[in-house]
Amino acid sequence: MPAPREHVVVVGAGLGGVRTAENLRSRGYLGRITLVGAEPHPPYDRPPLSKQILTGAWEPDRAVLRDKPGLDEIGVSARLGAAAVALHGTTVELEDGARITGDAVVLATGVAARRLPGQPDGVATLRGLDDALALRDALAEARSLLVVGAGFIGAEAAHAARLRGLEVIVLEAGRVPCERALGPLVGELAARLFREAGADLRCGAGIARFTDARTVELADGTTVSADVALAGVGAAPALTWLDGSGLDTAGGVACDAGGRASGADDVWALGDMAAWWDPVRRRRHRAEHWTSAVDQAAAVACAITGAEPPPPAVPYVWSDQFGLKIQVAGRTDLADEVVPLHGDGLDGGPVRGTVVGYFAGGELVAVAAFGAARYLPRYRSLVAAGAGPAAVSAVAGELRSAATR
Ligand SMILES: Cc1cc2nc3c(=O)[nH]c(=O)nc-3n(C[C@H](O)[C@H](O)[C@H](O)COP(=O)(O)OP(=O)(O)OC[C@H]3O[C@@H](n4cnc5c(N)ncnc54)[C@H](O)[C@@H]3O)c2cc1C
Repeated sequence: MPAPREHVVVVGAGLGGVRTAENLRSRGYLGRITLVGAEPHPPYDRPPLSKQILTGAWEPDRAVLRDKPGLDEIGVSARLGAAAVALHGTTVELEDGARITGDAVVLATGVAARRLPGQPDGVATLRGLDDALALRDALAEARSLLVVGAGFIGAEAAHAARLRGLEVIVLEAGRVPCERALGPLVGELAARLFREAGADLRCGAGIARFTDARTVELADGTTVSADVALAGVGAAPALTWLDGSGLDTAGGVACDAGGRASGADDVWALGDMAAWWDPVRRRRHRAEHWTSAVDQAAAVACAITGAEPPPPAVPYVWSDQFGLKIQVAGRTDLADEVVPLHGDGLDGGPVRGTVVGYFAGGELVAVAAFGAARYLPRYRSLVAAGAGPAAVSAVAGELRSAATR
């Protein structure tokens, strides 16, 4: 039997890092836990940044995951405001020169906002609390917002700006918004949400360059400007600090299906930065989803404490856009067929209440729901079971008749 671990060093004091510490304690781990975080703020949750914080509904303290007393309560020693700059075996080196050695290291340093080539510094990005507060303040003074990228964060920012009465222009290089998460057909529903909310959404917009921090030149030579510009063009793990660690960091830290970093016995990685082996896709996959970081933190804590791992969960992501919750459960990227299950959104009817099933080889692999949260749990279990069209349509019929009773 391996010797019990006495010190776990968790690098990254965001969602995955905090959840790892909480799970270690709830599974009976009694050793030391050190939590290292680059930002000076107490660990906070990111989804509210582009929602309640940007709209002004919340002040930042409501997004805090655990403040100092909360960390003390679970016996976590936090080193905040000190980025890790190197990893040697299980020794983490910090920017202030400190070296912390654990007998297990958990990496959870998330991702950094992608920038377009030549992007001026004055163009906003939205990844951390400081970004959200700066953008909130800029929107309060502005009459217009230019968003480059109609993914989830671009859409949520566009919604917050419309709520504040700003004119909003959104440039999207792809065919539809949120195409990676929803696919081209269902992404049309997201496009309608932008337009119905009064945002000027321009898909297929080839962006040549920013000419300044508020102006974009398009491939056809025309320019678009606004008082504030936001680049919402995705994110990527910032892993240069792991150069020299011996870990495989191409496309995220490469891990097995339980989060153990490839080739390293005592190092795990999770959350947005980690590419875990996905037995369903039969390749490594990196997800930037809240629920994925939470599930992976539980699995890693089990591995470190020697507990039975939790069963694999169906992937899940949500986004709040234009007054409606979009939820996706499963792997839409596997689908070869898309079938409406509830609502008439795909036929031009209201987007709200529309639920769509994604099938691959006759099995349900994902479901997307637009303002139809009550239906999702049933379909999530059908996705987990890989249900066929007959079982799915029977459940759809049952739910429809329950809704009319
Ligand atoms: C604005 C916004 C809105 C979102 N909304 C949703 C949503 O609606 N639904 C959804 O499913 N997901 C959403 N997400 C994604 C979700 O928040 C992430 O998937 C989740 O936070 C991932 O957790 P993590 O621990 O991997 O990374 P994070 O929570 O990002 O934590 C990483 C931490 O590591 C720190 N760090 C980075 N480098 C170092 C270093 N070298 N040394 C030490 N510390 C370091 C960072 O400062 C950060 O605190 C949103 C993300 C953002 C940015």
